Amino acid sequence: MSDASHLNRMQRKKEVVDERISRATEERGVLILLKGNGKGKSSSAFGTMARSLGHDQQCAVIQFIKGRRETGEYLFFRDHPKLDWHIMGHGFTWETQDRERDIEAAQAAWLVAKGLLENPAYHLIVLDEMSYMFKYGYLDPEPVVEALKRRPAHQNVIITGRTMAQSLQEIADTISTVQDERHAFRGGVKAQQGIEY
Ligand code: ATP
Ligand code: MG
Repeated sequence: MSDASHLNRMQRKKEVVDERISRATEERGVLILLKGNGKGKSSSAFGTMARSLGHDQQCAVIQFIKGRRETGEYLFFRDHPKLDWHIMGHGFTWETQDRERDIEAAQAAWLVAKGLLENPAYHLIVLDEMSYMFKYGYLDPEPVVEALKRRPAHQNVIITGRTMAQSLQEIADTISTVQDERHAFRGGVKAQQGIEY
């Protein structure tokens, strides 16, 4: 491609982008859903949290499912002065196999989340693996949808999990599906520190 036609193409692209930017005028918090079977949902949420913390915004994480190991992101972020990190589960559900206890843990986690969604001090709230609570019937999505609708206008919320309740998808601003094309685990590679946890 010649320099002149490259310049022409870039100028046209800039016009299209500028026009789109000028149309996005609203300033408010967004609800982001990160779903799908591929790897990268929670790590994307924590990457966004690093952005938010970099701008000195108050953040909170609630993890609805707790693994057996402390994750690297927890070890890295937990002492940050602008962050509250709540780990509410008590182990993998398919390991505990105690439905009553799981429901209690889910309800307790939801009460904490609800308090955060009413608190304008929080700029970003990550509800990690919350979608499983709806899938297994541990939480009813309706009060969650209501609380999300009523939250402070500037507050951003990210919810992760493989499947998402339809009612959440209806009110979300941004939905990204991480597709599973290939995963090292199926190729026989063990879960490793710094990548999986
Ligand atoms: P990550 O925390 O790495 O961003 P995720 O949040 O997208 O992953 P989850 O469904 O929460 O994925 O699963 C958490 C764990 O399972 C991670 O250790 C991740 O590497 C692993 N994992 C994610 N997707 C797959 C997959 N398609 N096959 C096997 N393991 C997976
Ligand atoms: Mg995850």
